[in-house]
Amino acid sequence: MTTTHDYIVVDAGSAGCVLAAQLSEDPTVSVALVESGGPDRKPEIRIPAAFPKLFKTPYDWDLHTVPPPGLGGRELYWPRGHCLGGSSSINAMMWVRGHRDDYDT
Ligand SMILES: Cc1cc2nc3c(=O)[nH]c(=O)nc-3n(C[C@H](O)[C@H](O)[C@H](O)COP(=O)(O)OP(=O)(O)OC[C@H]3O[C@@H](n4cnc5c(N)ncnc54)[C@H](O)[C@@H]3O)c2cc1C
Repeated sequence: MTTTHDYIVVDAGSAGCVLAAQLSEDPTVSVALVESGGPDRKPEIRIPAAFPKLFKTPYDWDLHTVPPPGLGGRELYWPRGHCLGGSSSINAMMWVRGHRDDYDT
C-alpha cells in the first residue's frame, strides 16, 4: 500500500515539531513527521535538573567536534537530542528573555 502526504517534515526536533504542528493545523493537509530517534517517554526528559542523565544514552547522538583551534587539540563532547523533541528533550529547559540590544546590534 502506498501512502501519500502533502508535506514530509524530516526530523521531530524543536523546529521540525513546530513546523509539522503549524502545517497540520489545516485539516485538509496531510503531514508526515519523520524522526531518527525513538519516543520521548522517559522521566528524565520531564525533569529539568535531570538532563545530564540523558547524555551518552540512546536519547543523545553523542557527537564530538573536530579539535577546535585554541583547545590544545582536544575534542568537545557535543550532546544533541535523538528522540521526539530533539535537543529540547535533553535540554535544561532554561529560558532567558532576549534583550533588545541583542537584536538591534
Ligand atoms: C544539553 C543541551 C542543553 C540545552 N539547554 C537549553 C536550555 O536550557 N534552554 C534553551 O533555550 N536551549 C537549550 N538548548 C538548545 C536547544 O535545545 C536547541 O537549540 C534546540 O532544541 C535546537 O532545535 P533544532 O530543531 O535546531 O534541532 P534539534 O531539536 O536538535 O532537532 C534535530 C532532530 O533531528 C533528528 N535527526 C537528525 N538527523 C536525522 C535524520 N537523518 N532523519 C531524521 N531525523 C533526524 C534528531 O534526532 C533530532 O530529533 C540545549 C541543548 C542541549 C543539547
